[in-house]
Amino acid sequence: APPTDVEEVAEAVKVVVRIRPALPRELNGFRPFENAMLVDPSRHVVTVSENLAALNNNGVENGIVYNSYRFGFDRVYGPESTQEDVYSQSARPAVQNVLQGFNASIIANGQTGTGKTYTMEGERAGPGAGIIPRAIEDVFAHIQHGSEGESCKFLVRASYLQIYNEVISDLLKPESSNLVVREDRRRGVHVEGLSEWVVRSPAEVYALMERGAAARATGATKLNEISSRSHAIFMLIVEKSTPLDGGTGAAAAAATAAALASEQFADLAAGSGHGPPSARAEMRQSVRVGKLNLVDLAGSERVHVTGATGKRLEESKKINQSLSALGNVIAALTDPKGRDGRPHVPYRDSKLTRILEDSLGGNCKTTFMAMVSPAVEAFAESLSTLKFANRAK
Ligand code: ADP
Ligand code: MG
Repeated sequence: APPTDVEEVAEAVKVVVRIRPALPRELNGFRPFENAMLVDPSRHVVTVSENLAALNNNGVENGIVYNSYRFGFDRVYGPESTQEDVYSQSARPAVQNVLQGFNASIIANGQTGTGKTYTMEGERAGPGAGIIPRAIEDVFAHIQHGSEGESCKFLVRASYLQIYNEVISDLLKPESSNLVVREDRRRGVHVEGLSEWVVRSPAEVYALMERGAAARATGATKLNEISSRSHAIFMLIVEKSTPLDGGTGAAAAAATAAALASEQFADLAAGSGHGPPSARAEMRQSVRVGKLNLVDLAGSERVHVTGATGKRLEESKKINQSLSALGNVIAALTDPKGRDGRPHVPYRDSKLTRILEDSLGGNCKTTFMAMVSPAVEAFAESLSTLKFANRAK
């Protein structure tokens, strides 16, 4: 039986939490490290507390009342979780969706220093490799193993953009900044003029990632400052063409050559079906395009508005605005009340949600990852990150 709406909604958006391990600087710091997170991975529950020792005592210790909050998510990754755990359980399903021609988004949120970039990028290879390199290896392995038969052809393209202060720039073509989001029937929602690079191997994708990182660095005087205050989206677009008449690889290749020769390839690929019927019968192919958005969000820490002025204040207002727009969109998509009534999904409230519009909800798989520090010092920020994620659930 086809899945009901409820199951579809439950499937479409996954919200997970990852608690990074304590860092050497925290363990060897001036004050002894104090943990604030209690994880029950089997029940997907996390408790964040100002004083874990007080939990057994109704939150009271030495007459002082300490705050604790408990949250359940689709998954909770504790400090000992590996990059492989996170990828195989919470990212691979989205990558597989893209290979089937659907869109997907994997979004990392959290305070600066909680492991967003480590989780999304991590190392290039080996056990420390993050979601992006693992996704890329999976995509090319799928293509090279011919998992879908000889006649199936794949084309992979990549784009890399940054949103800083609500201004979109192309990290792979630094002269292109202040790009505009447009929508039309042929391409759907897209960033106009954003460069797309055909990639044939993981190595080519890594070269692009490096180029993007360099562009991010030269564009700003203080690299860390900017990278923690901008959203970065790495897009991988996988186009799959399959001959519809069950033709062999040779037939498909011949059909493609014929189509190119008659300059009707674009029309045929778009399924608009012009051209002589006899030729069409042989050339017809189904083209499916899946897009994977890998999103490393700006640090979610709130700048204390009283302390901030001028540029800094405007900047943090814009970050807060796009994060809350994203929260509102995901909350609308996961709202069970809205299912039949089709809730208003406020995609238009920020550049970020506009760009992700065709990759959130519906047939798309979305994994929203909330990153938190284990330290008591980060209690307030961690609580705010967990509340935000809990609302998106
Ligand atoms: P963010 O991108 O959220 O600002 P980073 O990814 O740069 O944070 O992580 C901050 C620091 O913590 C880095 O030194 C990173 O290597 C380390 N780190 C984060 N998550 C983990 C983890 N799961 N295991 C080991 N080290 C981690
Ligand atoms: Mg980072």
